[in-house]
Amino acid sequence: MRALVVEQLGGPEVLQLRDVPVPQPGAGQVRVKVEAVGINFADVLAVRGEYLTRTRLPMTPGMEFAGSVDALGEGVMGFSVGQRVAVLGGVGGLAEFAVVPAGALLPVPESLSAPEAAAFPVSYLTAFFALSTLGYSRAGEWVVVQAAAGALGTASVQLAKSMGLNVIALASSDEKLQVARDLGADVTFTSDTADLVDRVREATGGRGANLVLEVVGGKGFQGSLDMLAPRGRVIVIGAASREPSTLRPVELMKRNLTVTGLWLTSLMQDPEAAREAVAFLTPLLASGQVRPQVGPTYALAETGQAFEDLLGRRTTGKVIIEP
Ligand code: NDP
Repeated sequence: MRALVVEQLGGPEVLQLRDVPVPQPGAGQVRVKVEAVGINFADVLAVRGEYLTRTRLPMTPGMEFAGSVDALGEGVMGFSVGQRVAVLGGVGGLAEFAVVPAGALLPVPESLSAPEAAAFPVSYLTAFFALSTLGYSRAGEWVVVQAAAGALGTASVQLAKSMGLNVIALASSDEKLQVARDLGADVTFTSDTADLVDRVREATGGRGANLVLEVVGGKGFQGSLDMLAPRGRVIVIGAASREPSTLRPVELMKRNLTVTGLWLTSLMQDPEAAREAVAFLTPLLASGQVRPQVGPTYALAETGQAFEDLLGRRTTGKVIIEP
């Protein structure tokens, strides 16, 4: 089968398309025929050796994908050959077949195409945890969604609207903001708006936002704190700018602010939290009330280009590879 193999850390140039043996599932594992792979910032960072966990080489990237069950290892129950599944937290998705632990499989509503199913796990689970489990948002509150046309951003806008929140969407261009408006964002600003903090205050009737989903970091992080209402919360989900932010804890005291970090990988290790998130999202996806936004789609051999386009801020929705 064809697979992308990484033997040394680096940029897109280290992704090598190879012919390798089809992997065999061991006990507790499932082999999935991969139909679509969602590309995340985390994949790009892992290949560069800059992710939160150490990258073990050689490896085939691809932590999020969708396809059908191709073979079951010993002791796997609850799945059958041919069943459509999404996978979260495996590796090896950038190949024709991948072997993953059965625990990495998620159910896929019939209504989703393979690319939509591949666009769902990371972004929607993260958005759910940010808005609900860690963000404690309540209907009628105001949430600021950064990079709102991206994979996580589009998921966050849709989920926030389905929860009855008011959404202020930020993105780098008006074209991207239109994507957020089409998904229901109430107010939109380009992220380089000079008086952004004042504009957010105005839009929220002078109070400020209740919640900011922070994915950019860097010097803009202070703005995220400044635009909060009293008792507001910032959920730190990413640092796409790859610049450091400064946080002075004493500053949080004055307005009783909260800053919370979110890492999907560790949240999914809590079975109850994972079950709650999947139970919330599955009916919304099945009914079409939220719809994963499929972005640009590439062939396996074009994955390097996909990485560059994601880092170069040229994409909207989830970047997809079809092996
Ligand atoms: P996106 O599809 O959102 O693409 C990234 C977007 O980030 C860009 O399109 C761009 O939007 C924005 N951005 C802002 N500054 C930069 C920069 N300097 N370089 C590149 N992009 C920039 O990607 P993802 O949905 O995969 O991820 C979004 C963020 O969320 C990332 O920081 C990622 O690490 C994080 N994340 C974290 C998770 C966790 O568990 N903590 C889980 C999922 C995602 P614009 O042009 O509009 O500014």
